[in-house]
Amino acid sequence: MTEPTASERQADVIVVGAGPAGSTAAAYLAQAGVDVLLLEKTAFPREKVCGDGLTPRAVRQLVAMGIDIDGPGWMKNQGLRIVGGGHRLELRWPELGDYPDYGLVRTRLDFDDILARNAQKSGARLFESTAVTGPIVDDQTGRISGVTARLLDGDGRRAGDEVHYKAPLVIAADGSSTRLSLAMGRQKRDNRPLGVAVRTYYTSLRHDDDWLESWLELWDGEPGKSGLLPGYGWIFGVGDGTVNVGLGILNTSRAFQSVDYKDLLAKWLASTPERWGLREENRTQPVRGSALPMGFNRKPHYAGGLLLAGDSGGMVNPFNGEGIAYAMESGEMAAESVVQARSRTTTAGHERALQGYAGALDSRYGGYYTLGRYFVTAIGNPRVMQLATRHGLSRPTLMRFTLKLLANLTDARQGNAMDHLINGLSKLAPAA
Ligand SMILES: Cc1cc2nc3c(=O)[nH]c(=O)nc-3n(C[C@H](O)[C@H](O)[C@H](O)COP(=O)(O)OP(=O)(O)OC[C@H]3O[C@@H](n4cnc5c(N)ncnc54)[C@H](O)[C@@H]3O)c2cc1C
Repeated sequence: MTEPTASERQADVIVVGAGPAGSTAAAYLAQAGVDVLLLEKTAFPREKVCGDGLTPRAVRQLVAMGIDIDGPGWMKNQGLRIVGGGHRLELRWPELGDYPDYGLVRTRLDFDDILARNAQKSGARLFESTAVTGPIVDDQTGRISGVTARLLDGDGRRAGDEVHYKAPLVIAADGSSTRLSLAMGRQKRDNRPLGVAVRTYYTSLRHDDDWLESWLELWDGEPGKSGLLPGYGWIFGVGDGTVNVGLGILNTSRAFQSVDYKDLLAKWLASTPERWGLREENRTQPVRGSALPMGFNRKPHYAGGLLLAGDSGGMVNPFNGEGIAYAMESGEMAAESVVQARSRTTTAGHERALQGYAGALDSRYGGYYTLGRYFVTAIGNPRVMQLATRHGLSRPTLMRFTLKLLANLTDARQGNAMDHLINGLSKLAPAA
């Protein structure tokens, strides 16, 4: 890859990171006629550690962007199968006006590539193998005015000198480690929940299961006796002969720091039936893990020309660990605010429109994430987790409510009593 010229390095907006948040933001910006540079340190297609599970919330975003989800490679699912406390319960995705009644599975190897190409097709200028090394900050105003970056070769090694990319607005969509946000002084908020998740793939006869399956019992001690962890294990059929298998744990448990994730995964999988094939000899990928930044663990989401979208702004849902839908939604919302800001005729009006992004995030997710914080604190107590698993799963109506709550799937206007209750509670809870 050759280095871009000075004019190619200038844009209206720079988006750092072409994951779901960045590619969605870039696509919407480009569609609105904004000159947008999308800088990505890897080259597509590339792996990303993930469960590859898409709930109806994420499907809605894909449909809105015109992604062809009926083509080959998309594995449809009809709901969630929950295993725990001696129960095995299948809960269909709710029938709603605002969301489809199915989810999908697609490996991130394909998924992120599709979204990045969609951004490119929309008119965004995607530069791959371009690692952003830091912000360029205007000395006088303290605002971000661009980024420095380096070209990388195919092995991720430095392949050129540092170059400057300039734009008056930058969207940090660089994932959970978000070096760009850190360099702009946005530290992680330690009073927010954090998860850690690991995943791998196995060849398995379960590969074409059209339910997302989650196991609620992960024991750090003797199974059935002590150390029930707040988290779950999952088995998601990829449809290509393999399953994505993994587990995630929350930092509200005392065991969080000391858990050996690979060992926990091995122990759990040993308890699954032999014929499923979830055994070492069928593993096709290494066990890899990463952090799940939850409940707005980084703020402000807008200041000084920099917007945070997706994991960089800590937008993973604390209830279920889902992050893709929120990355795409926040990417779209960031683009919307930028487009509006660019139409304003005064500096103050421009800034108000951008501040509107932070406000819109608060009103859309703030109260719900606060409820999520209460939830993760409660299940951090093994006794609460045990009670919920043992007694909750035998009550189908309660579980249907729980699914709506945990997956954030309610109708805003035409919902039933469950929807009204969840929406009402989310409105009452303070956004923080
Ligand atoms: C094990 C595991 C399982 C998960 N399972 C699910 C699941 O099943 N469903 C779900 O919805 N969510 C899941 N999540 C969460 C989900 O993966 C994230 O929430 C989601 O990827 C966030 O998208 P993003 O675009 O904000 O960030 P990312 O997907 O992390 O994308 C960030 C992008 O920025 C690029 N980048 C980083 N630094 C730089 C730099 N300096 N310069 C240029 N580019 C840079 C990266 O290469 C990457 O492409 C899981 C997470 C983990 C760890």
